[in-house]
Amino acid sequence: MALVDQLALESDLSDSALCQLLDYLDHPDQDQDGRVRHHLIQKAHQKRMEIYGNRVFLRGLIEISNYCKRNCVYCGIRAGNPGAERYRLTLEQVLESCRIGYELGYRTFVMQGGEDHAHTDAFLTGLIHEIRTAYPDCAITLSLGERSRESYQALYNAGADRYLLRHETADDGFYAGFHPGMALSVRKACLEDLKAIGYQVGAGFMVGLPGQSNQHLVKDLRFLKTLDPHMIGIGPFIPHHETPLADQPSGSVEKTVVLLAILRLMIPKVLLPATTALGSLNPVGRELGIRAGANVVMPNLSPLEVREKYDLYDGKICTGDEAAECRQCIQKRIENAGFTVDMARGDHPDWRN
Ligand code: SF4
Repeated sequence: MALVDQLALESDLSDSALCQLLDYLDHPDQDQDGRVRHHLIQKAHQKRMEIYGNRVFLRGLIEISNYCKRNCVYCGIRAGNPGAERYRLTLEQVLESCRIGYELGYRTFVMQGGEDHAHTDAFLTGLIHEIRTAYPDCAITLSLGERSRESYQALYNAGADRYLLRHETADDGFYAGFHPGMALSVRKACLEDLKAIGYQVGAGFMVGLPGQSNQHLVKDLRFLKTLDPHMIGIGPFIPHHETPLADQPSGSVEKTVVLLAILRLMIPKVLLPATTALGSLNPVGRELGIRAGANVVMPNLSPLEVREKYDLYDGKICTGDEAAECRQCIQKRIENAGFTVDMARGDHPDWRN
């Protein structure tokens, strides 16, 4: 209890105290009737109410391509998976998804994809320019992996506002094991570039990667505290049957929820999604996340015919619902959990316009 109170009061703990808290919460038998866990979630909820009230922002997610040159070992659309059925949305398809999304009330479009060689600066700046012109009141978020600083700058100049690039794990050796041919230092440099350019930046990590310890997670928390991003996306690891990690157990919803609560207390103003992965492991996983301080949900706006192909992990939910159904379903869930939907752009509170 004392550690949770200190975290709530000071928005930080030492690394050893964070590790002690995570170790303690790993053993529900120690935590009599889940008192500390409950207290942590209550404190995180109070903090989100102070800053955001009971609003949950909705962002429309458009999965623009599942081509990827990378080989992250946990990912179902890695280049080395010959079983992945590839697709790439045309400019017209993306614009149509935006049109549908706008009519449904979305004011943020999140364009996510693998590192696709066809996504040249010329293609992406053209696409961003079209969206920016058609929907000047909307935020444009990109999640397209590692690019050069010049490229990030060109996309920003074309009208992109935000960029999501999860660091996945902040331990160099651990990172290298899951990301062949990649380096954490490059990832960190990309995040620094994005911040320096002026994007609202999102980082984040995976919970329950095989071999992950609480020391690894403390490194993630420390890295995020130092980076101080505008958004943080975390989700449980879920295996995909056509990857080298096919036989590994999933991460835990409970631990992800605990980490969401800790992040809300450590970085109080951060925009914190309750991710689809959380909802894929537990039918009310997103609601549990929202009750623990998460304040963003990203329903799917991708064309129905490509939904199943953006197959990052097994059992991904929301692949069969039309955009309007997703929108209604998520609104009901948020309201049933005692919160309200906010369709505004939902910028970070310190964001200058
Ligand atoms: S996690 Fe991202 S970068 Fe890695 S293989 Fe999958 S889509 Fe590509």
